Amino acid sequence: MTDPQPTVTLPDGETVPAYGQGTWHMGEHRRRAEAEAAALRLGIELGVKLIDTAEMYGNGVAEQIVARAMAGRRDELFIVSKVLPYNASRRGVVEACERSLKRLNTDHIDLYLLHWRGSVPFAETLSGFDRLQRDGKIRHHGVSNFGLDDIKEWVALDGGGAVATNQILYNLTRRGPEWDLIPWCRERNIPIMAYSPIEQGRMLGHRALAEVAAKHRATPAQVALAWLLRQEGMIVIPKATEAAHVRENRLALDLALDETDLATLDRSFPPPKGRTALGML
Ligand code: NAP
Repeated sequence: MTDPQPTVTLPDGETVPAYGQGTWHMGEHRRRAEAEAAALRLGIELGVKLIDTAEMYGNGVAEQIVARAMAGRRDELFIVSKVLPYNASRRGVVEACERSLKRLNTDHIDLYLLHWRGSVPFAETLSGFDRLQRDGKIRHHGVSNFGLDDIKEWVALDGGGAVATNQILYNLTRRGPEWDLIPWCRERNIPIMAYSPIEQGRMLGHRALAEVAAKHRATPAQVALAWLLRQEGMIVIPKATEAAHVRENRLALDLALDETDLATLDRSFPPPKGRTALGML
């Protein structure tokens, strides 16, 4: 297996893993909690050092599951969490982060994101992020589900230029952001974090994926993930609770797609021909 794993460089020069584990829908059923923590632990053992979570997931319980999974290994990991837009006032952001820190059983979050745009003025959220950063409670901050107009507005504000990522819905079936949002971020060295990279499993029956997978003795999920991982400045965060899925997805790092594969995928999943609104799940 590929080791060391590929990295992406944040605007301040720090490198972070390009491949991580998602946690949405974890923490929703108590009987599944141990299996979910075990899946994350397996990923960590396989060398996956970035975990994406949010205060929203399982109403905070996903963060507790992350804490269980990373016990004793916090220092090896890069933890991403997110504040809900209705907690994103200056004071609300600080309090939400402190609650997340307790649930995560850690003294800092590596990257803290505004989950999506709400009604709180961006300047207030940025001021809360700044406070948290100065207190050492978060190391970097960024945004999620921001379309081009949103992110332009954010970076124009005091402190907004420090945006360390835009986490968006992006996969082979959702190529809209390639039109303008991804190039705009890339020009400014703002990494993209691609969420729902296998479209929550819905894309896996597609013939083109099966065709490319068969050629490489790989699986459709590995092809979908490898297609994202080959892109510069792209962080990819599939979620898996099944141990077999964790292992399978991790092997996507070893899959190199060639020009013929990319052309096959382009025919079935064409790039955008114009601007579209950013999707959200
Ligand atoms: P995803 O990673 O595309 O798909 C997860 C689903 O696919 C799970 O049901 C999982 O099943 C299944 N799966 C995983 N690997 C598989 C494989 N190799 N073969 C077949 N099925 C497989 O979707 P996601 O969870 O929506 O997105 C990933 C992460 O991005 C989230 O967990 C979350 O951390 C983040 N996210 C962020 C936002 C946002 O608004 N910022 C929105 C959505 C997601 P099992 O769990 O049973 O293994």
